[in-house]
Amino acid sequence: MRYIEKLPDPPGEAALVGTFAHRVLEVLMDLDPTERTVDTARAIAADQWPQMADDNDFLALGFNEAEARSFRWKSWNAIEGLWAIEDPRNVNVEATEQRVQTELGSVPFSGVVDRLEREADGLVVSDYKSGKAPSPRYRESRLDQVLLYAAAVHASTGEMPVRARLLYLGDRHVATDVTNAALDSAVGRLGDTWSAIQTACSTDSFAPTTGPLCGWCPYLDRCTEGQEAVAARPAAGR
Ligand code: SF4
Repeated sequence: MRYIEKLPDPPGEAALVGTFAHRVLEVLMDLDPTERTVDTARAIAADQWPQMADDNDFLALGFNEAEARSFRWKSWNAIEGLWAIEDPRNVNVEATEQRVQTELGSVPFSGVVDRLEREADGLVVSDYKSGKAPSPRYRESRLDQVLLYAAAVHASTGEMPVRARLLYLGDRHVATDVTNAALDSAVGRLGDTWSAIQTACSTDSFAPTTGPLCGWCPYLDRCTEGQEAVAARPAAGR
């Protein structure tokens, strides 16, 4: 619906909280390590807020004053959550918001790596997440994103990262070693997805895939299968 039908897909509150937290952490991590304190983060958040308050996506949420205050608190909780998982003064940042564009297997790939850092044993690819860390069942699929970033960094720079990790703000790290086998598996799954997309496009067949997130899907009112999936999960709230 987003890419083929090109229907609007306005980001919801949770996505915008993540966007704002990312922006503040990017500015923070670009500073000298000694300046990366909670007080500095608070000052950066205050400095960045007018830009977010004027953003069309934020305005589209139609928040009143109390809801806007709640949004700022949620954003601040995500930002301050960085200190629950690391001391940012000890991070040796090589780059933030690094764009990578390459081919993985035969699949065109582009993305933005939140953070590249240098540790004693090599380069580490990190990506901030403002949600909860996944249960073991979903761990591997969530790590595919950072493994693909690691493969793209390797393809672009020639240096193979040693680790890829997701930084769940306020929660914990979820990390994996970057090995040839791990990259081959992630790139293989990307190739499978790419083939499935090509088949769907050539046959004009796009079967809905329902799941626990249907209740938050912006296209729910157009999707009978999603509505049925939501109705079958009364305990999930939507
Ligand atoms: S409601 Fe669920 S199945 Fe339907 S389009 Fe959205 S995510 Fe896909």
